Amino acid sequence: MSMFTAVEMAPRDPILGLNEQFAADSNPNKVNLGVGVYYDDNGKLPLLRCVQAVEQDMIKAPKARGYLPIDGIAAYDEAVKGLVFGAGSEPVKSGRIATIQGIGGTGGLKVGADFLKKLDPNAKVLISNPSWENHRALFTSAGFVVEEYPYYDAAKRGIDFDGMLSALNAAPAGTIVVLHACCHNPTGYDIRADQWDQVVAVVKEKKLVAFLDMAYQGFGYGIQEDGAAIGKFVAAGLNFFVSTSFSKSFSLYGERVGALSVLCESKEEAGRVLSQLKIAIRTNYSNPPTHGGAVVATVLGTPELRTLWEKELGEMRDRIKLMRHKLVDGLAAAGVKRDMRFITDQIGMFSYSGLSKDQMVRLRQEFGVYGTDTGRMCVAALNSKNIDYVCQSIAKVI
Ligand code: PMP
Repeated sequence: MSMFTAVEMAPRDPILGLNEQFAADSNPNKVNLGVGVYYDDNGKLPLLRCVQAVEQDMIKAPKARGYLPIDGIAAYDEAVKGLVFGAGSEPVKSGRIATIQGIGGTGGLKVGADFLKKLDPNAKVLISNPSWENHRALFTSAGFVVEEYPYYDAAKRGIDFDGMLSALNAAPAGTIVVLHACCHNPTGYDIRADQWDQVVAVVKEKKLVAFLDMAYQGFGYGIQEDGAAIGKFVAAGLNFFVSTSFSKSFSLYGERVGALSVLCESKEEAGRVLSQLKIAIRTNYSNPPTHGGAVVATVLGTPELRTLWEKELGEMRDRIKLMRHKLVDGLAAAGVKRDMRFITDQIGMFSYSGLSKDQMVRLRQEFGVYGTDTGRMCVAALNSKNIDYVCQSIAKVI
């Protein structure tokens, strides 16, 4: 008898489980489209040149590593504000944004969730159906009841916008609505600009709390374009939350670089909010790690490196789009009769392929092509070498 005798085995993380299965697969043609990671055309995780340049300088002038402030590197937080809200924007100039360096986008979300729980313990959380699989667990573990608003419409291969809007309309005041700022994970479908206007209007009218999750800024149409929804919430005079992740945009997955920004009414209010965010951090992990934050702050704050980063980000974005087109063409060439052009309507890393669970299982078992059971495939893991094989494999299961 041990104190852990009654501890149950938790279910495996579905995506990490898929990775383990992939690793154990002996099929020489196997392709992993399960995880949300960008690979280059050689199937390699890129190390961006802007990141390398900073790291080389760091090696030339090595520095001791003291503790960072609780809210992270000041220059990093400033750079995040500029990226999310626009460098010369009114919220930045007036100093009414409280930003903290987070442990990845996940950390930003969790610090925000912990703060919100203290602010309004009875609020409900609404996430999209479907959503990034960690949203539900994260807000649940922060103590919230999590429900869904309709989002994906499988029959029409798009968004059930009417359903989404009426769910938001029906939500009680104070409900926290988690919105994907761009590049919706897992579906790849984003709402249009005019639909964002309607969402903003409902959030304002019904006094909901918007929490925008921006994990892919720059992966859709561009840095500013992908941040456009933020500008709409600002223009409506709302106070809201934005989590940022640099995992993908800097290809710094393991460094855990992200942030949380809270737009407040005034600079004075932002000071008070920041003091509470710091308590959430202090009692969880005290302060963030130095390396990733220092790299990102230096790249964003050095004009030549910033230009290089934007170029490299643009290359990743363009390559994903190219793969979407190749996928559509390749599927048609492989004999798929179904109209698959919706794949190029989707944006960001993922495609909801419309394949059934059975088809996804067959893809895995017979062809070593790994996507999730929901039909989600990571387009950013396709390349010029594996695309034909993937298209032919899909053609055989459709
Ligand atoms: N939100 C969404 C929608 C995501 O897809 C991800 C990661 N893929 C995250 C948050 C978390 O990002 P990070 O890995 O930086 O914690």
